[in-house]
Amino acid sequence: MLELSRKAAGVAQSEIRIMSVECEKARGINLAQGICDTEVPEPVQRAAVEAIHSRQNSYTRLDGVADLRRAIARKMREYNHVEVDPEREVVVTAGSTGAFYSACMALLNPGDEVIVFEPYYGYHVNTLRALDCVPVYITMHPPEWIFSREHLQNAITSKTRAIIVNSPANPSGKVFTREELEFVAEIALENDLFVITDEIYEYFLYDQNQHISPASLPGMADRTITISGFSKTYSITGWRIGYAVCDVRWAQSIGYFHDLAYICAPSPFQHGVAAGLEELKPEFYRDLAGEYRAKRDLLCTTLEQIGLAPSWPQGSYYVLADASTLPGSNSKEKAMHLLASVGVASVPGEAFFSGGGRNLLRFCFAKTDSDLQEACRRLSKLSVAATMR
Ligand code: PLP
Repeated sequence: MLELSRKAAGVAQSEIRIMSVECEKARGINLAQGICDTEVPEPVQRAAVEAIHSRQNSYTRLDGVADLRRAIARKMREYNHVEVDPEREVVVTAGSTGAFYSACMALLNPGDEVIVFEPYYGYHVNTLRALDCVPVYITMHPPEWIFSREHLQNAITSKTRAIIVNSPANPSGKVFTREELEFVAEIALENDLFVITDEIYEYFLYDQNQHISPASLPGMADRTITISGFSKTYSITGWRIGYAVCDVRWAQSIGYFHDLAYICAPSPFQHGVAAGLEELKPEFYRDLAGEYRAKRDLLCTTLEQIGLAPSWPQGSYYVLADASTLPGSNSKEKAMHLLASVGVASVPGEAFFSGGGRNLLRFCFAKTDSDLQEACRRLSKLSVAATMR
């Protein structure tokens, strides 16, 4: 009898996509998915269109076009304080997702244990599962999403091969401090582990928070795979441009696995992103953070007013809110209640935990100002309804 693979049974549609479908049915406002409705920066748009017109439409070198690799290496030096050779240590990928998948293929074996901080980004965990690796969870606690150093130390076994870091984090909005990252680095060095770091929200920082790349810490460059991309920074989630940078020993194999699945990242869009890195000034990135800070403030203030206490995010563009006051015995029921009663979609907190999250909902504020304002107007009705009861 024909059957799906054994792996297929363990991989289901993400709760985020499921809530987006429910939202469409209910004609709600979708604060479930991070789609970035903001404008694509002009140089990025222009250079991509020019690249199509000037026939840059074929496969590129498997690790990407030279202009983009050089621009990424420069950005890594200036913003992330990490030195990389653009000829051998930069792999341009089909989104940061392509980079993460290829890095896991290149570096991990079935049965390897990998440390994951939870709440986690579901793609990290599902990719590990798809490769028969074993996620080992370190739970972070709100409101600042701190983790126990002792738990981390005790979680390391002879099978541990890597630690995944995501800062600024989805869904918690946590920005790891230098001290926390130094501790992670110490553990990685002591136990000879890889650190795979997803830095896709590196420019989405609020208040006084600073982005620190683990690869910039002493002794860490050789064992760290730094992954990022342009989906969020340039609002081009559908273009699929990301990268992995790391020591040449790992970069070559990551490139081969990426080639196997994707051949290369889309050529004209690589040129668009290269122009963005070349032409956009530091103010662009500062203004972006300012714009999203205002969105965060609006959403978090509204959530506070209606009694869904948020953990104010320090970075990224998500917020986890305490939905204990909503009816429902789990986070899915609470999310469905919110959608049915005020027409706003969120993601059930349980999608981000190995066991917890029953009282949490995740809201995304990467929305146009008018959509976010309308969502907040609708959410405000919740408190009116509650007080009328
Ligand atoms: N990493 C994290 C933590 C994310 O939240 C997302 C998207 O939501 C991605 C990666 C996907 O990035 P990309 O579009 O570059 O594949």
